[in-house]
Amino acid sequence: MSPPLADELGSADLLDGITTAVGDLDPATFRAAARAVVEIMADYLRDVERYPVLPQVKPGELTALLDGPVPEAPTPLRIVLDDYRRLIEPNVTHWQHPGFLAYFASSGSGPGILAEMLMATVTANAMLWRTSPVASESEAIVVGWLRKAVGLPVDFDGLLTDTASTSSLIALAAARERIRPGVTVDGLADGPPLRIYASAEAHSSIEKAAMTLGIGRAGVRRVVVDGGYRMDPAALETAIAKDRAAGDRPCAVVATIGTTSSTSVDPTAVIADICQREGLWLHVDAAYAGVAAILPEMRAHFAGWERADSIVINPHKWLYTPLDCSLLLCRRMDIVRTSFSLVPEYLRTVGEGASGRDYSEYQPQLGRRFRALKVWFLFRTFGLAGLRSRIAANIAMATDFRAWVDDEPDAQRLAPVPFSTVCFRWRPADLIGREEEAPIARWLDLLNEQVLEAVNQTGEIFISHTRLAGRFTLRVAVNHIRTEQRHVERAWMLISEAGRRLSTAMPARWG
Ligand code: PLP
Repeated sequence: MSPPLADELGSADLLDGITTAVGDLDPATFRAAARAVVEIMADYLRDVERYPVLPQVKPGELTALLDGPVPEAPTPLRIVLDDYRRLIEPNVTHWQHPGFLAYFASSGSGPGILAEMLMATVTANAMLWRTSPVASESEAIVVGWLRKAVGLPVDFDGLLTDTASTSSLIALAAARERIRPGVTVDGLADGPPLRIYASAEAHSSIEKAAMTLGIGRAGVRRVVVDGGYRMDPAALETAIAKDRAAGDRPCAVVATIGTTSSTSVDPTAVIADICQREGLWLHVDAAYAGVAAILPEMRAHFAGWERADSIVINPHKWLYTPLDCSLLLCRRMDIVRTSFSLVPEYLRTVGEGASGRDYSEYQPQLGRRFRALKVWFLFRTFGLAGLRSRIAANIAMATDFRAWVDDEPDAQRLAPVPFSTVCFRWRPADLIGREEEAPIARWLDLLNEQVLEAVNQTGEIFISHTRLAGRFTLRVAVNHIRTEQRHVERAWMLISEAGRRLSTAMPARWG
């Protein structure tokens, strides 16, 4: 696909050999290799559409290509880089492909990628203020920028973590410490079982947090949802009352703004009232949708989140930040600190610098990446205005897609579209009103599985699926920085063509 590196760079001599047996690359070799890597990166981003989004490989094929004896002798960098382009680059799933419309894309913008390069260059460990003052202080600043950008009050402070799963774990650990002070020291052996409430549509990371925190998956009460996949607040109240009557200890409620399957929005303001009345911690999972609050016209979806105790928003989902970067906002950083602070002597800062914030006291891990640099680069290079217009463009494309689904008699939308994700299925119009008949329901599931498979096999796009109210559902999520109108138009063409072809070609329509 691309010419060999040496031809591009004329630096083959430097890349051909490692001249020292100890120590790092010498500066001249590093410079030449870094230039070569930047060429690879720029070519990749320019040409990524030449690849099928999903690599055409079977499990085990790559192991056979990559496996071999542990390399004993040094390999020239030129060969390593050529092998990267030959063996590695083609065989990733291309998250940077503009046709990546599956799950929620984590697309890495240019500024975010540049910041990652510099993060690796300084390799600062942001665990203590002393271990990287600018990482700690810039983290506080970008947390503040993000908070203000999404319109939340100043009483929210926070930190950057790797993922929403970690952010929610930290939040629920703080909720546990608040309801059972001292649990961090004494453990959960005594006392009534703790309960967490989340809707049936809430992300599995909430149950994983409960598993990790000793509350257990069974300690998470899955509250039923309404026809729009939103938590039913009356059912929440009933579940809390039932647990109290049984002697259990309600601890926290998780409201989701932008659920993973359908991007539904729980009635957060009503849930906040219940939490206030019941004295429960309110955690809002807005991992995907949270950044949409930088658009004033989207704020109505977030009503009530300002009353939460903690909120998670993932810049690596919809703020074009390369994996990984999640923001945890919390009003009670003192409790977060109680939940995770354990400072052995060797980490104590003595003398100058003792007053800076040591972020490792607020999370389970000690070492932490300098993620603030990515967010700083994004805000500085695109500006809030640039970020707003990119998010608005994603929403506009999804709005068009929704209209195409709604205008197609043979398609059926299966959920509202509050943000940039459309859930639907192919459903020939002559079956309207008969969708619930068991053989037809089974046939529709099968048809849509085949549509999914067919469009993903084209390599031009990658979409994923979910199940909504028991129905196999196609899901198109438009939150990629490089997705353009032509990509969503093409996606709709491929899906509708496959839907039409497969619904007539399937041997028996039902039975
Ligand atoms: N919460 C929601 C609503 C999600 O959609 C997801 C993932 O898609 C997560 C949490 C977990 O995100 P992460 O992979 O950052 O842990």
